[in-house]
Amino acid sequence: MDLFEAPADLPPRSAWMRDCSGCGACCAAPDIAALAKPLGVPCRHLQADCRCAVYASRPQPCRNYRPDWVCGEVAPLPDLEARIRRFLQIYGLEAETTPV
Ligand code: SF4
Ligand code: SF4
Repeated sequence: MDLFEAPADLPPRSAWMRDCSGCGACCAAPDIAALAKPLGVPCRHLQADCRCAVYASRPQPCRNYRPDWVCGEVAPLPDLEARIRRFLQIYGLEAETTPV
């Protein structure tokens, strides 16, 4: 299965993007129980440059996360706020959080 194969009705902004660009969206948009991180709120370990401050000791869910086609859709957006918004929109989770 190609994780970068987007749904036909959701062509990503950068279809050729096939690696993590460190945009920070996946450390901010989803809820992460292991970190008691709510939906749509940046992880407390996410630094201003979108790098992880505890990368060497990050919890298992962070280690398991793999880039996929969503990266090509959210990473080109201009700032973290826009990436979070789009990430939540893709998964239909907008209504479960307050606007960021
Ligand atoms: S959303 Fe994708 S490109 Fe952005 S930090 Fe996460 S894995 Fe990397
Ligand atoms: S612990 Fe690090 S890798 Fe995990 S969500 Fe927070 S910033 Fe991202």
